[in-house]
Amino acid sequence: MSKHRFLPDLETASPDQSRQWQAQQLVRLLRYVRRHSPYYQRVFRTQGLSIDAIRTLNDLTQLPVTTKTDLQLHNADFLCVPRSRIVDYVNTSGSLGSAVSVALTERDLKRLAYNEALSLACADGSRSDVYQLTTTLDKRFMAGMAYFMGIRKLGAGVIRTGSGLPGMQWDTIAQIQPTALIAVPSFVVTMLDYAEANGIDYAASSIRKIVCVGENLRTAGFGLNALGRRIQDRWPQVRLYSTYASTEMGAAFTECTHGQGGHHHPELLIIELLDANNQPVGPGEYGELTITTLGVEGMPLLRFKTGDICQLHTEPCACGRTTARISPIAGRKQQMLKVKGTTLFPQAIYDVLNELPAVENYQIEVHSNVLDLDEVTVNLGLREPSDWLVEQIRHRLTARLRVTPALKTYSPADVHQRLFTGYSRKPRIFVDHRSNLLV
Ligand SMILES: [Zn+2]
Repeated sequence: MSKHRFLPDLETASPDQSRQWQAQQLVRLLRYVRRHSPYYQRVFRTQGLSIDAIRTLNDLTQLPVTTKTDLQLHNADFLCVPRSRIVDYVNTSGSLGSAVSVALTERDLKRLAYNEALSLACADGSRSDVYQLTTTLDKRFMAGMAYFMGIRKLGAGVIRTGSGLPGMQWDTIAQIQPTALIAVPSFVVTMLDYAEANGIDYAASSIRKIVCVGENLRTAGFGLNALGRRIQDRWPQVRLYSTYASTEMGAAFTECTHGQGGHHHPELLIIELLDANNQPVGPGEYGELTITTLGVEGMPLLRFKTGDICQLHTEPCACGRTTARISPIAGRKQQMLKVKGTTLFPQAIYDVLNELPAVENYQIEVHSNVLDLDEVTVNLGLREPSDWLVEQIRHRLTARLRVTPALKTYSPADVHQRLFTGYSRKPRIFVDHRSNLLV
């Protein structure tokens, strides 16, 4: 018997036991999609695949991967149940390419609730907590609904304030005294700015923990990045927990109290890290997070490539869980830069620039040169530009990145204009001029 309702035995089992259990689930899943998924039926048929030969996790590499493009082009063919069994329709965020519709059955909603209860329990949550939920519950987003259901399953309380309106958030905190926030970290910064401008004593508030969604809090070494520090330095009374999730996998990787990466829940996903040739990367290497869903009824996925690059940490965690932990996402596969033989992600450049108060704003541009190598230019918005300052910035970038991008200086207003050209409401911080950017 497990010590805790939301710490299943599988999360403290030996890696071998876990893999054996997952292998049995994989066999069941393959039989299920062979019976019910028009998409995978077609893939198995056209590739002449006999799924009966697949019995262990090592056999996974015999299966083809599923890409976001597959999901976009053949969206309806992934559905394994009749329409009458579907309860909820959600959309992927569509940050790259067109959005994908994901349909969930009653059982899928229960799985989602279970996932979030496991994840919140992992992040020191319990039934005595009250969560203020500052993410959107509607607009076809999965996340807000998943948190709401997970908090209920955990037996904790929930206040659905939704997104934005920092004044209303603080009023609610004062009125109901929640113990935790679920929030996008940059919105927490907005809340702190609002509190300081309006004389709200947030240090004395009831909030003790923040589950941070959607943005990285940490660097690859698990220290807080500039965004994480902007919150923690001003508000040392709270503990920050990073979480990574996506609609397609219907599951989350959330940090425990030790903040050493998001914990994998082996009941819900089989995970692999793959290189550019869809082969598993070596221990400690960066690879594309690739997932196979377990327990999904509506739209199960085999070897789905998330496009997110990370590392895997497999040594047991001090919290007692033996499950793997994923590092902060280094970047999108499409954003990977090869600069003078070094692999680099825009996020690593952001992390450095965000630490420099003299840099008001910035934009990263990448071009292919005649040798088809990536050339990176950082457009810096500086209020008081000087050769000395640019040299300091160059030193900082070189020390951290091991390569030096080209630097160009502008006024912050000029960079702002570059960031918001066209119809996009989101700033274009990373502009990719490489010809091979086909998602
Ligand atoms: Zn842990």
